[in-house]
Amino acid sequence: MTAWDADAPVRVVMGDCFRCDRGGLQVGRVGELLGPYGETPLYACGACTERLVTMHQQSRETPVRPYIAARADPR
Ligand SMILES: [Zn+2]
Repeated sequence: MTAWDADAPVRVVMGDCFRCDRGGLQVGRVGELLGPYGETPLYACGACTERLVTMHQQSRETPVRPYIAARADPR
């Protein structure tokens, strides 16, 4: 399984993948949803984690939402 940070150990547990909805698999925590009442951990299977990492790497090369950078410029 690929981790977001290759040097960080990924704790694998048995559970459901938030992305493909399959259950009873080995999943690792890939992030969380944050809200005013707390956080919800997100766990993904190996295949979905690979896909998320690829999406992240591609978005850094070609930003999906370049308007976010424009909004950060307070002109
Ligand atoms: Zn999955």
